[in-house]
Amino acid sequence: MWNSPKVGILGGGQLGRMLVESANRLNIQANILDADNSPAKQISAHDGHVTGSFKEPDAVRKLAETCDVITAEIEHVDTYALEEVASKVRVEPSWQAIRTIQNKFNQKEHLRKYGIPMADHRELVNNTPEELAQIGEELGYPMMLKSKTMAYDGRGNFRVNSKEDIPEALEALKDRPLYSEKWAYFKMELAVMVIKTKDDVLSYPTVETVQEDSICKLVYAPARNVPDAINQEAQALARKAVSAFEGKGAFGVEMFLLEDNSLMLCELASRIHNSGHWTIEGCALSQFDSHIRAILDLPIPPKSLELLQPSIMLNIIGGATPDSHLKATQAALSIPNASIHLYSKGAAKPGRKMGHVTVTAATIHEAETMIQPLVDVVDTMRA
Ligand code: ATP
Ligand code: MG
Ligand code: MG
Repeated sequence: MWNSPKVGILGGGQLGRMLVESANRLNIQANILDADNSPAKQISAHDGHVTGSFKEPDAVRKLAETCDVITAEIEHVDTYALEEVASKVRVEPSWQAIRTIQNKFNQKEHLRKYGIPMADHRELVNNTPEELAQIGEELGYPMMLKSKTMAYDGRGNFRVNSKEDIPEALEALKDRPLYSEKWAYFKMELAVMVIKTKDDVLSYPTVETVQEDSICKLVYAPARNVPDAINQEAQALARKAVSAFEGKGAFGVEMFLLEDNSLMLCELASRIHNSGHWTIEGCALSQFDSHIRAILDLPIPPKSLELLQPSIMLNIIGGATPDSHLKATQAALSIPNASIHLYSKGAAKPGRKMGHVTVTAATIHEAETMIQPLVDVVDTMRA
């Protein structure tokens, strides 16, 4: 048996909360570093939590004193503080992995060395209109201007349709470190959750993700009408990309499936990921269970990552009114086989992830039919 390990988690949002749910079932104490009453702390009553931010070195040091291993639910953390505490406590995945991955440009430069296919891209050095116009000549239009850092839910991306959009794009992302990406004409977006353990790199089945306004809206497991060869190829590519980084735990890998059925990496995250929430109901071990086991060197039977039943996950995103997520929840209560997860974040703000619902069924088509009324409700709530 393990020796009652304590896990420190940087960040107490919904991902931390679902990690706590998994840790709780194994009697593992999770010490959360975040604001008081953050979603993860609300379901974890003990005195080991730390109040503060994962960007404050002092708070990270304090957390390190309370636990055996530190992990993060978010990549935008102070990796210099993690580097410092790594001499005293295990940090999983490694601070080096988190540091490289949290900067999307550095992440891509790193992955390029491993032969991972990606959209062609160029770094901006001065953020001037002339510089971006030159890049536009090279990459063509449209192109996606992206912030290298602090990007999430598309907040950090700007689609540049033509030279005329350049001033507006630079204004929208001003004062941020930038790079620009060639447009990827994908027919579908795919994602794979990868679990890195002390001696293995495992993967969950490939799923299809649908983003709306650059925010993940729906996840289909398995991906609809995708042949098994592509499912396997996407898993292999995801494992290869994650193998380029040190450390244990869950990694979320986002990919584009292009018109010619080739795959391209969009980005990866050094953590549990929205595209893996379906695993709570869809697999014997969820991504959260697997993450906890991986960082503590506990066994993960690979069979437990296989799909048990087709699943569709729908995000409940804050709409026009503060109670929009509750209206969506009300509708979800009447849907058969719907598992509802609310994150207890208080009042909804437009675009904020407030919860999710997963519907399972014997076939993905049946699951689609069952979840459609809820998709209709969510569509009417949009801000
Ligand atoms: P996340 O919340 O997943 O961290 P993010 O803010 O880091 O998102 P990306 O994942 O880079 O942003 O992009 C968000 C979405 O924008 C993608 O899922 C895809 O739909 C679209 N997108 C990104 N890059 C490109 C590209 N080069 N060509 C076409 N579409 C793109
Ligand atoms: Mg991202
Ligand atoms: Mg993304």
